[in-house]
Amino acid sequence: MTDSTTVTRGTAVCENCGSVFAVRIWPDGRIRPIGSPANCPCGGTEFRRLS
Ligand SMILES: [Zn+2]
Repeated sequence: MTDSTTVTRGTAVCENCGSVFAVRIWPDGRIRPIGSPANCPCGGTEFRRLS
């Protein structure tokens, strides 16, 4: 297994409320909004990555 810790920055939209965030995308696919310790303020936990 490669020990990559590279985090990509991108843009994603909350699947629940449609809000768009600047996000960090972890190598394992997790997406987290930048500046927020948790998920979307609406409570959504799934984000769709935008190009
Ligand atoms: Zn949301």
